[in-house]
Amino acid sequence: MKITRVEAIPFKIPYKTPLKWGLAGYLEAAEHVLVRVHTDAGVVGAAEATPRPTIYGESQASIVHAIRDWFTPMITGMDPCHIEKIWAKLETIHWNPTAKGAIDLALYDAVAKSYEVPLWEMLGGFSDRLPMSWMLGMRSIPEMVQEAQDMSARGFKAFKVKVGIEPEKDLQVMKALRESLGRDVLIYADANMAYSVSTAIRTIKKMEEYGLAFVEEPVPAWDWKGRLKVARAISIPILGDESVFTPQDVAREIDLGAIGLISIKTPRTGYTLSLKIVHLAEMAGIPCLMGTQAETGVGTLASAHFGAARRNVSYPSEISFFLSLKDDLLAEPIALKDGFIQLPNRPGNGAVLDEDKIKRYRMD
Ligand code: MG
Repeated sequence: MKITRVEAIPFKIPYKTPLKWGLAGYLEAAEHVLVRVHTDAGVVGAAEATPRPTIYGESQASIVHAIRDWFTPMITGMDPCHIEKIWAKLETIHWNPTAKGAIDLALYDAVAKSYEVPLWEMLGGFSDRLPMSWMLGMRSIPEMVQEAQDMSARGFKAFKVKVGIEPEKDLQVMKALRESLGRDVLIYADANMAYSVSTAIRTIKKMEEYGLAFVEEPVPAWDWKGRLKVARAISIPILGDESVFTPQDVAREIDLGAIGLISIKTPRTGYTLSLKIVHLAEMAGIPCLMGTQAETGVGTLASAHFGAARRNVSYPSEISFFLSLKDDLLAEPIALKDGFIQLPNRPGNGAVLDEDKIKRYRMD
């Protein structure tokens, strides 16, 4: 089997409500890139790249450029099964994590389709379903409580709450959520690095009284001394996200001993680097969950297959954001039942793309 061409299709699908996080994060639509790797066997692998200029420095245009002008010429004619060899080529270009990640996910999809197995079986085969959490963005307290109650009624048993800008309000939100959702629901906070070390320690200690399960990136990721200080002062684990972009980051954090959980995002690490991360974490006794890049259906299925396949992805995953899209590129919606994604029983990632919708939402 040989790679014949790679498509990079920029597209835009609006969210039902804008997504806000941390100090600078704001999104009104998924402006992502659909990546398709074509082969001479007729098998096509599909994936989604998620530009996040404020996080990875990539844009929709830079991803299209990197794939079209750099990566496609490098890998055309190669066998898609030779994924390590392909990574060695991709790595000659620095960074561009989600452009590389999408190529890698699309290659795995093509290979699994050629083997005629679903990706979750090829990647480890632990399960064909994955529990979800629901993310509560920053809104008024009554709105956040109402949203949590609505999603709880739909079967969600875990909630991630965006915090970090107003510590006093953050505490009130935690109190209100715990009172309305009861004791059995898992609640955690994501500060997106927005607290100072002293505010983090003071605020998280108070949040512990409301049964906070863990806290994601309380302080700036570069401040490893600050992260360690927070970890030693609080009694719940820190979930690493911005501090663990790469397997090298994970190795350093394991050494440092500040984090107790890891968020894996397949858009930024593909399957190749995600496998290195999940193995490193498992050997260090650190459980993982699948983090979200607010993917549409294609990207969600890619992440869900990885999370379901691996035993060490044992906490509810965040990849439920597709429910907030006004539309999708998928012809068949993702099956969500009792707070679990049920993976389609089809080869590869199981995504069936709607060509009319691709035409409607493409930006080029
Ligand atoms: Mg995060």
